[in-house]
Amino acid sequence: MSVSRQKVTYFYDADWCRYYYGGGHPMKPWRLRLTHELVVAYGMYRKMDVWRPRPLAVDDVTVFHDPDYVDFLQRITPDNEKEYTTKAQIFQVGDTTDCPIFDGMYEFNAKCSAASIDGAIKLNHQDTNICINWSGGLHHAKKGEASGFCYLNDIVLAILELLKFHDRVLYIDVDVHHGDGVEEAFYTTDRVVTVSFHRYGDFFPGSGDYTHIGVHNGRYHTVNVPLDAGVDDDSYQGIFEPVIQAIMDRYQPGAVVLQLGADSLAHDRLGCFNLSLKGHGKCVSFLKKFGVPLLLLGGGGYNIRNVARCWCYETSVALGMDLENDIPYNDFISYYGPDFRLHITPDKIRNENRPKDIQSLVNRVLQNIQRIEIAPSVQQFERPSDGYKSMKEDEKIEREVMEIDVSESDERRIVAEEKQAGSAVQHESFL
Ligand SMILES: [Zn+2]
Repeated sequence: MSVSRQKVTYFYDADWCRYYYGGGHPMKPWRLRLTHELVVAYGMYRKMDVWRPRPLAVDDVTVFHDPDYVDFLQRITPDNEKEYTTKAQIFQVGDTTDCPIFDGMYEFNAKCSAASIDGAIKLNHQDTNICINWSGGLHHAKKGEASGFCYLNDIVLAILELLKFHDRVLYIDVDVHHGDGVEEAFYTTDRVVTVSFHRYGDFFPGSGDYTHIGVHNGRYHTVNVPLDAGVDDDSYQGIFEPVIQAIMDRYQPGAVVLQLGADSLAHDRLGCFNLSLKGHGKCVSFLKKFGVPLLLLGGGGYNIRNVARCWCYETSVALGMDLENDIPYNDFISYYGPDFRLHITPDKIRNENRPKDIQSLVNRVLQNIQRIEIAPSVQQFERPSDGYKSMKEDEKIEREVMEIDVSESDERRIVAEEKQAGSAVQHESFL
C-alpha cells in the first residue's frame, strides 16, 4: 500500500469542548476545540472522512468497566456528591483525587470513548486505513476506578473492539506518563502487546519498570521503556524505532493503537520530556509505513497551544500532507503568538538519559521482545456483533457544518469561568 495514499477518517464531536474540569485543573477539553480549529484552518478536513461518534450505550462500556462503577459515574453530579461520599472514595473520584466531579463528567467521557470504539469498528470493516480521535487516549482509567484525569478507558474499549476481528493488537503509548490502565487490562493475555515509553521514578503513576513484562499467557507481552527527564528527538527515536520494529517483526499485529499524549512535548506543564512536534510526529510516520490499520488517539497534554499544534501536525502526517509553518488565520490565532508558527523549539534543558544507559535499556527490552511468540493465532471463534450497521450516513459531518459547529457563547462561558476561577497564572496558561 502506498504510504501517502492511505485513507484517513477523523472523528469530531462539537460537544467535547463544552465540558470543564474546574478552575486550575490542568486537563482542559478546550484543547480539542483549538486542535479542530487548526485542522479546519489548514484545510485538512477536505482530505478526510469526518464522522461524529454515535451515542454510547452502557453495554458498550461494561464490556470492560464494572457495572457498579459505571452506574456511579452516571449518577453523581456536583449537586448530589455528598450522598455518595463512600462510593466516591472507593471509585477514586472527587475533591481528594485528581478526578473531580464536574457537570457532564460521564457524558464527556462517554463521548470520548464513543469515537475510539467507532474508529475501531471502521478499521475492522476496512472502511479506512487510519482513524483519528484526539479526544481519546485516556489511558489511566481502571476497570472500577478513575485515575489521572481519566474516568473511562476508551483505549481498552477500542482494543476489545479490534479483537473481534484481529488475533493480535499492538498498543503503543508515547504519553510522558506510564499507560498503566491499558497495561493492567491486558497483563495476562497474549492477544495484546502493550508498549509504554514514559518518565519513570517519582513520577505519576509510579509504575512501568522495564522488569514488568506481563504474567501467564501475557508474559513478555507487556513492554515498558522507563526514561529520565529531558529526552530529545534523537534519543527518543533511537529508542522507539528499534523497539517497535522488533515487535512488528515478531508479533505481526493485525491492528495498532497509538496513544499520542502530547505531554511528552517540550514545554508541557506536567511533563518533563523535550520533544519537538517533528520528533513526536515521527512515531506516526514510522507506524504508518507498515500499512497496518492504525487508530491514533490523543491523551495527556497540558500546554494547550502546543497540544493543538501537535495533533494538528500529526493529522497532517497521517494524511501525508505538508503544512506551512505559518499558522493560517483562525478564530483562535491569538493563542499562537508571538511567532504564530506551527513548530516549537525544544527547551535548553539537560537530557538526563545518558547514551550508555539508553543502549543497555534498549538491549534488555529487545531481549524480552525476542521471547514473544511469533504471530500467535487464536482458535476460531464466532465473531461477536458490532455497531457497524448502526453507523448512519447522517453522522458523517458535512464540510459546511464543520466550519460553524460550536457557538461563541460556549467559548465566552469557558473563558469567563477560567478567569473567575483563578489567578492570572492559571488564566495565562489557559490562553
Ligand atoms: Zn500523561
